[in-house]
Amino acid sequence: MQILKFGGSSVATAATIQQVGELVAQAAQRGPTVVVVSALGGTTDALIMAGQQAASGHESYRQLLQTIEQRHLEAAKELAPVTSQSSLLSRVKQECNDLETLCDSVFALGELSVRTLDRLMSFGELLSARLVAANLQVRGIDHVCHDSRELIRTNSNFGNALVDFQTTNRQVQTYVRNHPHAVYVLPGFIASDAQGATTTLGRGGSDYTAAILAGALEAEVLEIWTDVSGMMTADPRLVRQARPIPRISYQEAMELSHFGAKVLYPPTIQPVRQRGIPLLIKNTFAPADEGTRVEVAPPATGEVVRGLSSIGQITLLRLEGGGMVGIPGFSMRLFAALAREKVNVILITQSSSEYSICVAVRTADAVSAKAATDDEFAFEIGSGKVEPLVVEADLAIVALVGEKMKDHPNVSGRLFNALGNNGVNIRAIAQGSSEKNISVVVRTQDVRKAINVLHESFFEVQTKQVNLFVVGTGNVGGKLLEQLSRQRAYLLRHLRLQVRVVGVANSRRFAFAEQGLELSSWRDTLAQGEEGKLADFLQVIKNRNLRNTIFVDVTASGEVARCYPELLSRGAAVVACNKIAGSAELSYYQQLKRLSREFGASFLFETNVGAGLPIIGTLNDLTRSGDEVQRIEAVLSGTLNFVFNHYDASRPFADVVRQAQDEGYTEPDPRLDLSGVDVARKILILAREAGQELEMSDIENEAFLPASCMEGSVEDFYQEMAHQEPHFQRLYREAAAAGKQLRFVARYTDGAAAVGLQAVGPDHDFYSLQGKDNAVLFYTARYPEQPLVVKGAGAGADVTASGVFADIMRATRQ
Ligand code: ADP
Ligand code: ASP
Ligand code: MG
Repeated sequence: MQILKFGGSSVATAATIQQVGELVAQAAQRGPTVVVVSALGGTTDALIMAGQQAASGHESYRQLLQTIEQRHLEAAKELAPVTSQSSLLSRVKQECNDLETLCDSVFALGELSVRTLDRLMSFGELLSARLVAANLQVRGIDHVCHDSRELIRTNSNFGNALVDFQTTNRQVQTYVRNHPHAVYVLPGFIASDAQGATTTLGRGGSDYTAAILAGALEAEVLEIWTDVSGMMTADPRLVRQARPIPRISYQEAMELSHFGAKVLYPPTIQPVRQRGIPLLIKNTFAPADEGTRVEVAPPATGEVVRGLSSIGQITLLRLEGGGMVGIPGFSMRLFAALAREKVNVILITQSSSEYSICVAVRTADAVSAKAATDDEFAFEIGSGKVEPLVVEADLAIVALVGEKMKDHPNVSGRLFNALGNNGVNIRAIAQGSSEKNISVVVRTQDVRKAINVLHESFFEVQTKQVNLFVVGTGNVGGKLLEQLSRQRAYLLRHLRLQVRVVGVANSRRFAFAEQGLELSSWRDTLAQGEEGKLADFLQVIKNRNLRNTIFVDVTASGEVARCYPELLSRGAAVVACNKIAGSAELSYYQQLKRLSREFGASFLFETNVGAGLPIIGTLNDLTRSGDEVQRIEAVLSGTLNFVFNHYDASRPFADVVRQAQDEGYTEPDPRLDLSGVDVARKILILAREAGQELEMSDIENEAFLPASCMEGSVEDFYQEMAHQEPHFQRLYREAAAAGKQLRFVARYTDGAAAVGLQAVGPDHDFYSLQGKDNAVLFYTARYPEQPLVVKGAGAGADVTASGVFADIMRATRQ
């Protein structure tokens, strides 16, 4: 005997029922077959809703029943040939009339008992079995359609009845012996108690019906036909990359289904496991796919973890207090109190200090669990030995399952790493010593991210997906997106990095695509994107809560710089070209550094100083390896260097500044460069990175620009510079007369920093600096006389973008 069970989506429409008929016909050629069917997809939910509406006095239940009837009648008309249609139609009508009568009495009484609800739900499977049988009739297959309530005996625990296997097995065996047929069609899910009242086996229980029959008939195989190609490495609705598990042990399948893999109703395993009956999970809509084979000892594969699953709607209950330490009996009383209230405990942890016991239960049970526990410990709570039960809702359990986990160290290490690096906070953890299942409790909003991160870590080790949100689409942002687009294939091939730009924003609009934006056309996509401010974009980042998120700030905006703490504390890395945060008040800079450490989220800003040059990285390497920075001398403004290299008093200073702006070397407001403020920010950042606690006001700025130039708009600034031309000529001529070059130099010595114009002679490192070059001289304990020099182009969109790119690569290594 072989048992085939078809789920709700397999029998959803006449067309899919035809497909089921085809599969049954093929099976019947191999030998006698039992076919177990679910209700037409969605019917059980609709029946429950109709019952609830009727019980609460809403006449709308009639409408719902009408829809249910219509759906079944239409399917019947399509399935049966006109000649034999009338008997099928009258059977369907008869069932629907009975259903209506039942609902009318629920309406009249204004009450829906669990017993009545079971009777109500049974109509779904009773009807679908008729429709499937009708298709076998058309195919001329010898079959019988029988009511499972006459075969499967349970207790009277309506809604989730317990099977009396002795009676059931006897009834099933006797029936089959006395009624030889090629195919038996039986409704799943439903059974009856000793008094003949209809019971059900729990939601999703048709799988269980099939397993009970497989056990009773010692079947060769149990096949569960559904809408996916097997039990998968994770819920395919949560993880796009999930894939079918070809072979799995009974134990592993049981753990996965207990922890949420809906594809198999958990009790299904036991009856087949006891007898070693192989269980196959197959796809009705892709029957050629291999599917999953559940068996005693599947062959080993390279993977340590077999699958992942999750259960939502979890609440944690924590009993704690000094009065529990070292005194036996507290856990027994806690569990007894919960058991009295029929609260099912899903996960338990207790620290070895015995100061607290923590259990996870379904949220629906939380209120009665709390009442029962506080009641049980009323005396201890009153005398302060134990605290009132602490309840924490909005949680979910995520589980790793695999029998091989016990032989491999570091599975939990990888789990913690993957979750920790993504800002997923673990509220509780449970790992039995058999190590077949490691479960963690996380917040509901983190489930999707957690499962994806873990899937990537355990099943897709070859590639790592990185999700970028880029704010700012000016010169640097534009170049960065261009470079990312060009490098994508390289990163995937050589570094196994799948870098996706999932969000782009400027100050007016933003665009988002979870699969990654098409980078060749990001401008059009953004132009048609949503209108919205930074807060809206941040909300998207928060709501999507994607793994390996990197927030890239290529703006010069203070508002953007203020949102880093929230991002870092969610585990998102921040890569900033924007130097406002690094040069803000010291406490803010320190807060960001602390959050970065605390949440394991990178905060990188190499391009704040010297664009793409490795200046901050070099300084960090020096200090981390124990060197001591004594002095820094630096030309840090590409703009000012460009200006002083091009100005020789033959054309106005203002023109040279404008050229620098036109060629994209200046800040959006060039006064930030000319006033020395931008350089002051940079030396402040270097001093801080060298370990000095300085504020912006501690940086001495010997400005060379007359104060009058700083007033009014940018246009006023250019005009005033033109007026001040004699001042600039004088500066130039004095230096030239002494054979020197003008350089705007930043200095850091003995914990103090200053910026100002300096005339340097031919023997100085800065004399021959070309174009927009930057140079930094590090004098340290290890480089006391001949400094370590970093030199090169220190401005320009292309080099800055490549520096941001390098920081992104560093952040991916976290
Ligand atoms: P049926 O109606 O055939 O009984 P179900 O809806 O009960 O089907 O179960 C199949 C569904 O289970 C799939 O469509 C899938 O969305 C979901 N599912 C959740 N976890 C898993 C998993 N690990 N593997 C396969 N499917 C899963
Ligand atoms: N029809 C029932 C349900 O929806 C049983 C099943 O489909 O397995 O829960
Ligand atoms: Mg199911």
